[in-house]
Amino acid sequence: MFGKVTIIGMGLIGSSIARNVLAHKLAKTLVVADASEEVCKKLVELELGNIVTDELALSVEDADLVILAVPVGAMGKVAKIIAPNLKQGAILSDTGSVKVSVIDQIKPFCRSGIEIVPAHPIAGTEFSGPESGFVELFEKKWCIITPLPETDVRSVEKVSEFWEKMGAVINIMEPEHHDLVLGITSHLPHLIAYTIVGTADELSDDIKSEVIQFSASGFRGFTRIAASDPTMWRDIFLNNKDAVLEILQRFTEDLTAMQKAIRKGDGDYLYESFSKTRAIRKAIIEQDVGN
Ligand code: NAP
Repeated sequence: MFGKVTIIGMGLIGSSIARNVLAHKLAKTLVVADASEEVCKKLVELELGNIVTDELALSVEDADLVILAVPVGAMGKVAKIIAPNLKQGAILSDTGSVKVSVIDQIKPFCRSGIEIVPAHPIAGTEFSGPESGFVELFEKKWCIITPLPETDVRSVEKVSEFWEKMGAVINIMEPEHHDLVLGITSHLPHLIAYTIVGTADELSDDIKSEVIQFSASGFRGFTRIAASDPTMWRDIFLNNKDAVLEILQRFTEDLTAMQKAIRKGDGDYLYESFSKTRAIRKAIIEQDVGN
């Protein structure tokens, strides 16, 4: 599909893409790069690319497609290092969970003739690092692409096809819209999970041990989400501040309404709210993509 593909940042997402590139022969040459020497050693062991390097600038020379899969807060730093070495016409993509901020970080370093095609696969686990990736990660999962107005439509098609070959289903969106939608579907749930597990951790020691012992599926689910990578999630909240704060404001209002209903013994309000949300759950389960 491509002559040379370079992936920078070889954690869960980068290594899952690399496994797909190799399995589905999506590039003649695959270069995998990471700033960490330790990660590079692992990449050699795992045989995840034709070339493994920690020299980020050199890694992109002659590449047709470069994918940044580093934490959102590191995107600009990496773009600055690699941009002078990108060949004319190269596609620069990323997998960042926030789009407006990543575009703002990358764009100033890209001369005209570099095709920026931001992407976000809605797929992941709570694990990090190159060992945690797997080839099926993107199967039947959404990949949202948020092109810039100046991005050539052929570059968007190439990146879409690349993700489709990995099993993903493409949706094209405005970057601002992406950040708001993901604010509610992903960022807020993570914030709630981090908070609720933190609240449990503040409890006195005897109650804490019982929380672990009798942990039912609801709380267990929260602990799984709250085990997600702290660097990645710190960067997401700092880089999607406006959307997250707006969603959080609405959520706080809804939570206060629930609190009031419980205090007043308003069973009708609670029953109606829970019935509505049950219908939403049914609609989510019935859809075939993203589950
Ligand atoms: P990860 O497992 O933590 O991997 C990130 C990799 O990037 C690590 O190997 C890290 O090395 C390396 N790195 C960090 N800073 C770097 C720099 N300045 N230069 C070069 N390499 C650097 O993270 P991930 O889960 O794969 O996430 C990668 C990106 O995809 C993030 O932008 C995230 O928002 C996005 N994403 C994640 C998920 C998910 O569920 N995990 C889903 C969709 C999208 P060190 O370990 O040495 O720091």
